[in-house]
Amino acid sequence: MTFDPETTTFLIAGPVRIHPRVLRAMSMPSLNHRGDYFHGIVAEIRELLPVLFGAKGHQLVLSGSGTAGLEAVYSALVPRDRRTLVLSNGNFGERTDQIVRRYSSRVTTLTAPWGQPLGADAVATELAAGDVGAVCVVHNETSVGLANDLAPIAAAVRRSGALFLVDGISAVAGIPVDLDGWGIDAIVAGSQKGLAAPAGLALVHLSDRAVAALHPGTFYLDLAAHLKSLEKNDTPWTPAVPLFLALREALVLLREEGLARRLERTHRLADATRSAVDALGLSLFPDRAHASDTVTAVRNPDGMGDPELRKVLEREYNVLVQGGQGALTGKIFRIGHMGIADWPDLLVTVAALERILGKAGRLPAPGAALRAVVDRMP
Ligand code: PLP
Repeated sequence: MTFDPETTTFLIAGPVRIHPRVLRAMSMPSLNHRGDYFHGIVAEIRELLPVLFGAKGHQLVLSGSGTAGLEAVYSALVPRDRRTLVLSNGNFGERTDQIVRRYSSRVTTLTAPWGQPLGADAVATELAAGDVGAVCVVHNETSVGLANDLAPIAAAVRRSGALFLVDGISAVAGIPVDLDGWGIDAIVAGSQKGLAAPAGLALVHLSDRAVAALHPGTFYLDLAAHLKSLEKNDTPWTPAVPLFLALREALVLLREEGLARRLERTHRLADATRSAVDALGLSLFPDRAHASDTVTAVRNPDGMGDPELRKVLEREYNVLVQGGQGALTGKIFRIGHMGIADWPDLLVTVAALERILGKAGRLPAPGAALRAVVDRMP
């Protein structure tokens, strides 16, 4: 078998596989983005967004990848006159730090080693030092396959009165996020992750408090301007029209499945993946107690790097998983199992991994990893 992008088993950490209904939804002739038909689509999207976020609020769609949403939020909500606390324990935490530092000169960065969770106590201690106006955190660190435990961190932030700004790009519709209960003021989702729409849209949820605190940030991504246009089911500039069509269909699919059921399926797939990793004789990269349900990061076995593992999966078995980022390049591989990923995807991937490790004489118990997945199927 050779790699074929149209038929590949596609389990990278996002973009994820897209349902044919969503693909077909984009196949429309050009639409007038200032016309009634398109405004009707935007109106439907507005009605459907609470299905994605699991809560109501000020919710909007930006044309641009997840980072556009992050830049929109940080540029408009990071205070100019007070400190911002950035929490970082992976590649995307470091990215947060870079973005926030573009918009503030008063940034304190609290780090944990990559693969280790951020502790609420350290956050509380830093908040107690005073004058923190906003706290920024990545909920699910895609780069290391780790979900930060947001509830206790959120409680500390709430007590301090600071704005709580969350990168939820690989968390939303993949792991439980309690926007109201945790007091999240802004969260950004990416269209290409748990929602299983094409890449290129950022979905943003803002609390009342966040909307009241907005100050001018970037021009193109001005959240206040987007919210104002949205009142008329409009956008300030030309939106990515085909992606909006895809977004509507992906949201309808999510509503049909139900957010709770999507989270449950994602969790079961993650649990099965972790069990398969054990049975393959491999080990997880992150602290197991905090392993992410949307992406599993696995250490490459000794002596087997990307050329011996990930590239063989791609070339021989038409299976795509993702490599490591930054310092982890060649050291880990990551299996994404969010969105509409399902059991057949996982079975093929685990079977191929068994075969590769078996041929290399590195498989402790043939069949055990597949058994681990089968035993966890519904
Ligand atoms: N933050 C997290 C947690 C991510 O997983 C990603 C992408 O994988 C990003 C930010 C960047 O998003 P994008 O590449 O859509 O701009």
